[in-house]
Amino acid sequence: MNTLLADADICVKCGLCLSHCPTYAKTQNENESPRGLIALIQAWAGHHLDTSEKLIEHIDNCLLCLSCEKVCPAVVPYGRIIDNFRGQLYAERYSSLALSLLKKISHNKTINRLAQSCLRLYKTTRLQKTARLLRLPNLLRLDKIDRLLPDVDRNSISLPRDPLKQYYSASVEVKGTVGLFTGCMGSLLEQETVNAAIKVLTTAGFNVSLPEQQTCCGALDLHNGDRETAEKLSRINCSAFADQGLDSIVTIASGCGSQLRKYKQSEFAGKVVDISQFLSQSGCNHSEHLMPLAV
Ligand code: SF4
Ligand code: SF4
Ligand code: SF4
Repeated sequence: MNTLLADADICVKCGLCLSHCPTYAKTQNENESPRGLIALIQAWAGHHLDTSEKLIEHIDNCLLCLSCEKVCPAVVPYGRIIDNFRGQLYAERYSSLALSLLKKISHNKTINRLAQSCLRLYKTTRLQKTARLLRLPNLLRLDKIDRLLPDVDRNSISLPRDPLKQYYSASVEVKGTVGLFTGCMGSLLEQETVNAAIKVLTTAGFNVSLPEQQTCCGALDLHNGDRETAEKLSRINCSAFADQGLDSIVTIASGCGSQLRKYKQSEFAGKVVDISQFLSQSGCNHSEHLMPLAV
């Protein structure tokens, strides 16, 4: 707790970071500005503020893009503050059952695939409603995870999902080759996003590599104090994306990107870039190739 407080105390509340924060730009809520979040964490670490859903919601709205850290004249270690805060909160927030379940799903591909099938069954039959009626998620202290489960298309229950290939060729003149980091939950919770990312990148002229060996970024473990496992996962990811002549390693979730950029292996970390930033830096004009979205 003291390191957290000491780090938070470095902030002099000058507010120079506010105009660089995308969350604050959208919400205009001081509680969701870097300065406001640091103040909330400072109060929490100093025992002046209790843990509450509202507090967690404010913290969770931070994208962890670290734009604030880059411009802070006092060099406040914002990323470390959030990491430590979340680490300390995890024990309170999730039961050990929920945590070990999450870790198993995020680290083990077979369990991850099994979880996909269970999720579809749970969401597309009456199982979730029945479990909630019986208050099972609450009794097992899995209610927060239960609330966060994404909706699943009822019509797709009997259709097997297309497994992801390890390589997709650009569909127009090739501009380069990128690796796509899907995140440990990508295929489970965000397969549509993964598919959309592949489509946009290949349509923009990039070959896309999805190494089978890629795994969880290690954030879950790091936030839970297990630095050793986090470092082991970082080595697996670095080796998965090595020797492929990749121009960049593209991420589709800000949390994954933020953790990958912290890897000690600078050759890997230096290539990690968010998909929006990558596309904008590549000067891609998707409207040339993609069908307009129906609104
Ligand atoms: S984080 Fe840095 S820039 Fe932002 S208010 Fe604190 S001292 Fe100022
Ligand atoms: S990390 Fe990004 S979203 Fe979070 S407070 Fe800083 S600038 Fe805002
Ligand atoms: S940040 Fe991404 S890869 Fe890391 S634990 Fe979360 S979903 Fe998995």
